[in-house]
Amino acid sequence: MDQNLPDIFDTIIIGGGASGITAAIYAVRKNLKVLMLTKNIGGQAALSGDVENYPGYSMISGEELARKFGAELLSFKGKGLWVKEGLEVTDISGAVPNFSVKISDGEEFHSKTVIIASGRIPRMLGISGEKELLGKGVSTCATNNSPFFKDKDVAVVGGGNCALDAAFSLIKVARTVTMINITDSLSGDAILMNNVTSSEKVKVLNNHEAVEILGDASVGGIKIIDKLTKKEQILPVSGVFIEIGWTPSAPFDKLTEKNEKGEIKVDQFGASSVPGIFACGDVNDQVGEQIVIAAGEGAKTALKVAEYISKLPN
Ligand SMILES: Cc1cc2nc3c(=O)[nH]c(=O)nc-3n(C[C@H](O)[C@H](O)[C@H](O)COP(=O)(O)OP(=O)(O)OC[C@H]3O[C@@H](n4cnc5c(N)ncnc54)[C@H](O)[C@@H]3O)c2cc1C
Repeated sequence: MDQNLPDIFDTIIIGGGASGITAAIYAVRKNLKVLMLTKNIGGQAALSGDVENYPGYSMISGEELARKFGAELLSFKGKGLWVKEGLEVTDISGAVPNFSVKISDGEEFHSKTVIIASGRIPRMLGISGEKELLGKGVSTCATNNSPFFKDKDVAVVGGGNCALDAAFSLIKVARTVTMINITDSLSGDAILMNNVTSSEKVKVLNNHEAVEILGDASVGGIKIIDKLTKKEQILPVSGVFIEIGWTPSAPFDKLTEKNEKGEIKVDQFGASSVPGIFACGDVNDQVGEQIVIAAGEGAKTALKVAEYISKLPN
């Protein structure tokens, strides 16, 4: 163990996105000893394309906003904040005031409280070729990856706002965009839907299901089935964007109560069903998956954690 690390922290924050970063800043400013354990700093904010709804900036790229968040976070290092990046939390055990948080190399850290701020991840189809070709033509992030598909034929799997957003990014670069939608019509914001479906590049296949992604070194096509006629066909595309929504990401947490979507149930202060475990941002069951909401929840949760710790017996 790093000799400078305290034996026990006031709180361990899992996740370095907008909610975790804000929670860390607020917690340190409340004189708590804080350890952040995270795969990366920035989280989804770094992938968010052009952000036009974060107060103070009429428009800022998600990447730049995330960089600014990260710089501010790291300015608190050595002032009550320890950050361990590039690792995965695998387990939480124990109880208040001594939780144990384990990371993938087996190392464990201890804290009086835990703030789960691990956000959400894209839902996957679970079909053959998807995992094998991820990053080789299969993508879950059109914001980042659409430039690689200039003048190419691509497919977007999904029929809601995520898929429409992706298709809208892709229209600007790809030659054709085929939307594979399992239901009988697209559903999403009317303006976005109109912007997408009015493009000559876009073809929508409703009532179609993706069943296999084909290719060896890279994507060569996608096999789809018409749900009504049961007819199979292969679309020869070089990119497949899986855009069927998001799922909360806290597989390491077997302690707290979740709702039917897998979101951690919290009260208005971010307290979970387990005393001493809090959750903020996209991973919890509160309404709104937005940067400003995640940041606000991080702030509120950290303030509550500071109050909670002040009431723990010595
Ligand atoms: C393409 C896209 C566009 C968007 N556009 C906008 C927009 O314009 N405006 C807006 O307000 N919002 C937008 N959003 C939503 C916004 O980015 C999120 O709601 C917000 O950033 C969520 O922050 P968070 O901290 O809750 O979670 P996340 O940003 O998901 O952060 C979670 C953090 O936890 C880490 N983590 C996860 N699991 C583990 C683990 N096991 N161990 C260690 N670390 C872990 C992750 O690496 C990450 O650092 C967009 C999102 C996407 C994907």
